[in-house]
Amino acid sequence: MSSEVKSVLDHHPSYEAVIGIEVHIQLKTKSKIFCSCPNHFGQEPNTNICPVCTGHPGTLPVLNKTVVDYAIMAALATNSTVARTCGFARKHYMYPDLPKNYQITQADVPICSDGYIPIQCADGSEKKVRLIRIHMEEDAGKNIHGMAGKSWVDLNRAGTPLLEVVTHPDISSTYEARAYLMNLHTLIKYLGISDVNMEEGSFRADINISMRKKGETKFGTRVELKNINSFKFIAQATEHEMSRQIEMLENGERIKQETRLWDTKHQKTVFMRSKEESQDYRYLTEPDLPAIQIDDAWLERIRHMIPELPYNKSRRFQDEYTLSANDAEILVSEIAIARFFEQAARISNKPKQTSNWILRDLLAYLKEHKLELEQTKLTAQALAELVVALDKGVINSKVGQEIFIEMIQTGKGADCIIKEKNLEQIDSVGALEPIIIKIIQDNADNVAKYKAGNDRLFPFFVGQAMKATGGKGNPVLIQELLKKHLG
Ligand code: ADP
Ligand code: ZN
Ligand code: MG
Repeated sequence: MSSEVKSVLDHHPSYEAVIGIEVHIQLKTKSKIFCSCPNHFGQEPNTNICPVCTGHPGTLPVLNKTVVDYAIMAALATNSTVARTCGFARKHYMYPDLPKNYQITQADVPICSDGYIPIQCADGSEKKVRLIRIHMEEDAGKNIHGMAGKSWVDLNRAGTPLLEVVTHPDISSTYEARAYLMNLHTLIKYLGISDVNMEEGSFRADINISMRKKGETKFGTRVELKNINSFKFIAQATEHEMSRQIEMLENGERIKQETRLWDTKHQKTVFMRSKEESQDYRYLTEPDLPAIQIDDAWLERIRHMIPELPYNKSRRFQDEYTLSANDAEILVSEIAIARFFEQAARISNKPKQTSNWILRDLLAYLKEHKLELEQTKLTAQALAELVVALDKGVINSKVGQEIFIEMIQTGKGADCIIKEKNLEQIDSVGALEPIIIKIIQDNADNVAKYKAGNDRLFPFFVGQAMKATGGKGNPVLIQELLKKHLG
């Protein structure tokens, strides 16, 4: 992320933003949370359902233990406290996508509480965004509103396991909101417990925003932004909502507690529903599910499944390999890229150059060809050889680019390609000087113009020399020799 971020807050220095975020994460388990229906996205409506997840009377839910495993993973990865005993509750409301008329969720005692997720602020300092809770629950079905006022209900999603992650209102800018969400997103991806696909709804963030004058100790009235499915839109919606609220407060208007949506077309937040009266969900302990007891052995088993976490990895990359925060963050955002970088950097012993190749050339290649790293043949050993060959001046950088593409496509190492194609850089004076002298003899016209003061012809001579060496000449030496012979 760039540290130069413009925000409406810059224009209103007397205000500060108070932001708390709720995220719903769909877990990537094989089956749903309380039945054996497969947990799949994108099937024909109402084909992936059974009497349990559609709430038929008399059916009994059975808890999928993997959901608890995943919740414990999330707890340990966010420095949360795991409740040794917890259970489920029924949250009652009526809606077409919820035929049971209650959602099974966790109420007073969530499985995780009091954790935090560290973020790096715009000024480089660290901030801990405190988590109130992470709890397990089931997703509802989906209402689909079609043409001509018709609506349908698809219950495939009903019973999909969710984790809901709720922060304290500790976030004070769009930058921090984005940093928090990106850190949580990467963290969950590392744990491998969700697809975290925002477009498909497996990572859904609600942003709660209120504004207050600096120095004020009470919070203002919050507005909730819901169902925004990309980081970019979240940032735009947050900025828009902050300026809308500041304008209202400046005009002496009262902010109403409500839920708003982001209208991408008109670039503004729009009213969805009022939250003025808090609903009475009549939470009841779920009588059909026994309490969950989590012992030390269970915690230890899960602790061993947790990889080095992305925030720690990023900090370590910055220290160990002297990378910038920005570079480190991009490298760790995909675990496969992070591992690849570290392997190649250890072999080459040139972390900075290795990271440059990955950030600049490799990521661009993957994006252009819509590939994942695993789908290419590039090995860490091959990239390390390339970095070393360039560093030692065995090849020049133009040849390096060609070798890089060949390595990706063939899986060969740089050393092998250099030998096979005889690509060693020509960088002895003995080999280059006769070539330079010949170019000067063959181009008398241009030499005369150059000597008469047309400096812009210099690249022409360099180009001729590169051509004569089949692209393998050492560009620095070529320039030196040209300067010497052109006078
Ligand atoms: P609900 O579930 O009804 O949305 P919660 O009490 O669970 O209500 O709060 C949801 C989120 O709103 C939390 O992340 C919390 O930090 C945040 N929040 C609460 N009060 C404020 C406020 N005044 N301004 C901004 N965010 C707030
Ligand atoms: Zn089912
Ligand atoms: Mg909310």
